[in-house]
Amino acid sequence: MAAAKVSLKLLIDKKSHQVLFAEAGKEFVDFLITILALPVGTVIRLLKKQGMVGCLQNFYESIENLSDTYLQPDQNKDSLLKPEVYFSGGVVPLQLPNVESSSTSRNFYRCNNSNSYGYSTNCISYVSANSSAICPSCQNSMSRKLNFVDPPSSINPGSSSEGGYVKGVVTYMVMDNLVVNPLSAISSITLLNNFNVKEVGNLEEKVVDLGMDEKNLESMTDPSQYLKLLNQKVVLPCKGQRVLFAEAGEDFVDFLITILALPIGTVIRLLKKQGMVGCLQNFYESIESLSDTYLQPKQNKDSLLKPKVYISGGGVVPLQLPNIESSTSRKFYRCVQGHAYVSDDRTTSCPSCTRSSITMTSELTYVDSQSGNNSGSSSEGGYVKGVVTYMVMDDLVVKPMSTISSITLLNNFNVKDVGALEEKVVDLGMEEGLKLLKASLLTKNVLTDIFLKS
Ligand SMILES: [Zn+2]
Ligand SMILES: [Zn+2]
Repeated sequence: MAAAKVSLKLLIDKKSHQVLFAEAGKEFVDFLITILALPVGTVIRLLKKQGMVGCLQNFYESIENLSDTYLQPDQNKDSLLKPEVYFSGGVVPLQLPNVESSSTSRNFYRCNNSNSYGYSTNCISYVSANSSAICPSCQNSMSRKLNFVDPPSSINPGSSSEGGYVKGVVTYMVMDNLVVNPLSAISSITLLNNFNVKEVGNLEEKVVDLGMDEKNLESMTDPSQYLKLLNQKVVLPCKGQRVLFAEAGEDFVDFLITILALPIGTVIRLLKKQGMVGCLQNFYESIESLSDTYLQPKQNKDSLLKPKVYISGGGVVPLQLPNIESSTSRKFYRCVQGHAYVSDDRTTSCPSCTRSSITMTSELTYVDSQSGNNSGSSSEGGYVKGVVTYMVMDDLVVKPMSTISSITLLNNFNVKDVGALEEKVVDLGMEEGLKLLKASLLTKNVLTDIFLKS
């Protein structure tokens, strides 16, 4: 993994100790693009030691500590805490640790029966990402591996792709605030003027490497400031009024869990109007305005800017967030012959079918892990169990509710006068859902912030 280094050339103004901009190759721009595809849960896991801001990490840890008995039978904690990452074009960001496992293990399986002679066509109509899933047709296990086929080059099938997202012949200019543009001599001169640089002698060039072992990304004065994405101020002068905790049902906890699966790119898109903080939004907009000619032929901007959301549990869609539903519908296809390939794009040609014009058009039915297994214990859907009331703290620590703990809690809050307590019932609609997404990344008093301040 030591090979995973990317070099950047920084142009530094020695007087002001400021990075004016960096010259970067495609590897760095590709790296920033992969960040857009990372689910929030993955970011929390990666930044754990760096000290994440906001309090979504508290929620993450609450789920880590939650007993499995509170989970729906068809869910497992690991897949909630390590949401599936899908990098379009199969680019894995080698500059981030432990991300590769979740992305390269994009394995799919079908019924074990499906390759024996005279198998039932029903058996090849199911697909699962979990090799312990049970075939709904014959109850065999679905452990036969399928090869995933990427969709064809939609623009220019003749030209060979170098892989990754943007083209390699170009040098890119990365501003300190992560605005990215293709580099041209003219624009860098314009830029120096914009920076009001009078003396070119004060400028210094420095080549830095971005590697996985770079311990303290945050302290580097270069564009890796993106790690500070979520690390910006805001917050609130609390004037006495404060939410102690909320009692919530399973839907609220389920909603928080779906946030963990959202890719950063989706968060940026959702929070655009709310005024997202951090620089990654600048990068997002740079890609939006980057000409398609800089993209690899196999890539398209839309799939980079709207990374796919895979929501475990067969599509529990967070209704409290707008415009997510389309990307969650998880569709898979095979060829009519039933060869051992799977694709999520029906224009993909089957590698085993002789004529390349034969595309994979037969839709598969997705089978969730082990859902056929314990057909007796019916799942209510979602992630956590519904009979329980959950206690959600202002900083998003979540626990199953018990009377004893709430009394202990009042003591902890140092509440002397129970008469001063007030109960209030609030609804979480789409507007509050967006506010909560933002607040959970930025503040430590999420509930107070969205329900007591208007
Ligand atoms: Zn079967
Ligand atoms: Zn085929």
